[in-house]
Amino acid sequence: MSAQAEVRLAPPARLAAWLARHRRWFVLTGAGCSTASGIPDYRDSAGAWKRAMPMTIQAFRSDAAARARYWARSLHGWPVFAAAAPNDAHYALARLQAQGRIVRLVTQNVDGLHQAAGTKAVIDLHGRLDRVVCLHCGWRAPRAQWQQVLLAANPHWCARPLAVAPDGDADLAQADFSAFRVPPCPRCGGIVKPDVVFFGDTVPPARVQAALQALAAAEAMLVVGSSLMVYSGFRFARAAAEMGKPIVAINLGRTRADALLADKIEAPCGQVLAAVALTAPPARDHAARI
Ligand SMILES: [Zn+2]
Repeated sequence: MSAQAEVRLAPPARLAAWLARHRRWFVLTGAGCSTASGIPDYRDSAGAWKRAMPMTIQAFRSDAAARARYWARSLHGWPVFAAAAPNDAHYALARLQAQGRIVRLVTQNVDGLHQAAGTKAVIDLHGRLDRVVCLHCGWRAPRAQWQQVLLAANPHWCARPLAVAPDGDADLAQADFSAFRVPPCPRCGGIVKPDVVFFGDTVPPARVQAALQALAAAEAMLVVGSSLMVYSGFRFARAAAEMGKPIVAINLGRTRADALLADKIEAPCGQVLAAVALTAPPARDHAARI
């Protein structure tokens, strides 16, 4: 099939052609994968911020007012976030993995929706919002439990949430956060934070290494719903290019890796993946590899 003929194919057929050419894929997903689940994206189709810059680790560590603002917003954002369910994109990727087509799925999302859809061994590059961790002693707890602690510390807190962001934050533009009480770590009195990688923080090296190993074992890389503007995700596209592996992206709009892509399919990822996952044949040598 010539490149020109391929351009005229419908998005699912284009992806199917790539899947027919390469058996084993390294998959990297981003916010665009979860938008259909009601979790909004940070960035618009040109890669620019849609709203104020999200919390940085520096502000969270050093600024008590910033922490109060974060947890007050999170108190409202969490129930919406916790109620989100997987969409077609998550289920289709789980099917592709079950068909032996995915070496490893790495996500930049912190929502746990790939696991909820049935994908195994997901690498949560930026952590999980359904856990909290103490910055000082490493105490961890489920976010649902922390919600009860937050509510108990702020029985009269009320403000109107405007929107929920991908990190479970909610916009409370006009609220006064000075009355919000942030509970300390119950074990050491330290600062408790969601178990996610904030902007300005580093991804744990073991996670990056595990992902790079999976990439090395794959024949090609599929990017789903990510503009790759953040380096922690972009690095895998760069590594794939250096290893000579083709990169295909399903993304609405610009990505930081546009120059590295073998193909960019600009269509809603759920539609494209669902159509392909139902028809994709298993990898021929899957049985021999497991
Ligand atoms: Zn602690």
